[in-house]
Amino acid sequence: MSFTLHGIPVSRGIAIGRAYLLAPATLDVPHYLLDPSQIDDEVARFQSAQATVQQELDTLKEELPDDAPGEMGAFLDVHSLILNDTLLVDAVVKLIRERRYNAEWALTTQLEVLVARFEDIEDEYLRERRADIEQVTERVLKALAGAPGIRHVVAETPRDDMIVVARDIAPADMLQFKSQTFKGFVTDLGGKTSHTAIVARSLGIPAAVGVAQASLLVKQDDVIIIDGDHGIVIVDPAPIVLEEYSYRQSERALEERRLQRLKHSPAQTIDGTPIELLANIELPEDAKTAVDAGAVGVGLFRTEFLFMNEEEAPEEEAQFEAYKRAVETMHGLPLTIRTIDVGADKPLDSHETYETAPNPALGLRAIRWSLSEPRMFLTQLRAILRASAFGKVQILFPMLAHAQEIDQTLELVREAKAQLDAAGLLYDPNVKLGAMIEVPAAALTVPMFLKRLDFLSIGTNDLIQYTLAIDRADNAVAHLYDPLHPAVLRLIAMTIREAHAFGVPVAVCGEMAGDPTATRLLLGMGLREFSMHPSQLLQVKQEILRAHLPDLERPVQELLAATEPEEMQAALARLAVA
Ligand code: PEP
Ligand code: MG
Repeated sequence: MSFTLHGIPVSRGIAIGRAYLLAPATLDVPHYLLDPSQIDDEVARFQSAQATVQQELDTLKEELPDDAPGEMGAFLDVHSLILNDTLLVDAVVKLIRERRYNAEWALTTQLEVLVARFEDIEDEYLRERRADIEQVTERVLKALAGAPGIRHVVAETPRDDMIVVARDIAPADMLQFKSQTFKGFVTDLGGKTSHTAIVARSLGIPAAVGVAQASLLVKQDDVIIIDGDHGIVIVDPAPIVLEEYSYRQSERALEERRLQRLKHSPAQTIDGTPIELLANIELPEDAKTAVDAGAVGVGLFRTEFLFMNEEEAPEEEAQFEAYKRAVETMHGLPLTIRTIDVGADKPLDSHETYETAPNPALGLRAIRWSLSEPRMFLTQLRAILRASAFGKVQILFPMLAHAQEIDQTLELVREAKAQLDAAGLLYDPNVKLGAMIEVPAAALTVPMFLKRLDFLSIGTNDLIQYTLAIDRADNAVAHLYDPLHPAVLRLIAMTIREAHAFGVPVAVCGEMAGDPTATRLLLGMGLREFSMHPSQLLQVKQEILRAHLPDLERPVQELLAATEPEEMQAALARLAVA
């Protein structure tokens, strides 16, 4: 019987295949009390299972194929760290020794303790790190049971139409599936920023996660369609539905091939105006994805992700290595490193004030937080400056709004440089400094920024949220989050116009830059630098290649003059065909 399940779309595309159910390591483990004479042996049994898993992770890392997504190595490192974390290991050994639990019981008990700590975390990214702890625990349980690792399962299933259906899949295990021909993933657990989702996206494989109960409802060999754009999973579809999706799938493949042909074409409009397409990245490893996608640089490196999994902010040396790795990967192309933007929907768990702030989005976030923690900020500035000796680095500051904030920031940059001079460490003395324009107050006082800084980047995600007073993470008001609100459009247009009049480069690095339906609008406003997720690059390039700038100016001016919805609709319609 056909039925449909709904989950979270995390990796686009359509997959059609047959279900391959991946049995989870059962967490329903034996519980028994040890005889005191068995305790040492039980600790040794646990340690040996831990060593087996370490060996498995090491082998996976050594065997990473060259084309593995950049994040894979980092994920395996995270799993190794968890495997050896005292919070896990010491507690398990203690439970074995003091309570005389068998190793499996001790391990699942400690897992529950750790998982409970994650339950209350509001931040989606951090909450999902809980899955990593569960995945590592499952591996150790499998090793304790003497069960084969996933690679054996994969080797035994030489089908080429597999859609993996599982409760959850560890990113390292997904890589094993990559060596087989398989079509997609469906998991019961996970969210948009789960590692599984990130890997599925970078492998370009359709996936839906958070599909509640999928692994219980789907049977082995069921025919499945994944609509990765909408997070829909159709099980045992009717022939007409199957036909419709096969058709859509072939249309997409055709479109994809057409887009790939654009990869090496320069991004320029019909009238010959060159446009810079840059990438947004979150980890140093993403720099390779950016270059491979044909980006001419990184317009936004969100460094807060380096801080998020850590109990304490990474030391200068670790940060320096990360930034250096990213800039070296760019081979001379610019890398725009944004200083840490925490607070609001991206809290650091070590930063206790966010929990008590009455309104975190309006509180101590981004540059405000950095300026309130000058030691941490100076450490990051020194690390970034040192990386500038290895390539073209620019520094971008988030959420500036006041002249004194800009001046204080510049003073700290001077201080960081002086500290490096005193220590005899190298940096580029001419490193360019820029500001995000993401608060209406900033957009309304652009000249104040232009006098003090070298470049601007418009963060439309926050500019929209702050202009319309709509929390970008609040589903209840999501329908009011409108990038085309006249107030938003005017602020963006004004920022671009004033920056250009001053001869200062300006980019857009919010989601709007990667939305192909907004490309003509931004071009018509005069934008020449777009920074986006690398996967959006070719679609935006396609729009650029079809655009003739002189034809766009008029409809965009009409749009900017309009305030009534009907007038705006009419101007947008003219823009679409201009
Ligand atoms: C933005 O606000 O548009 C932006 C790019 O920054 P973030 O999404 O990281 O807040
Ligand atoms: Mg922002």
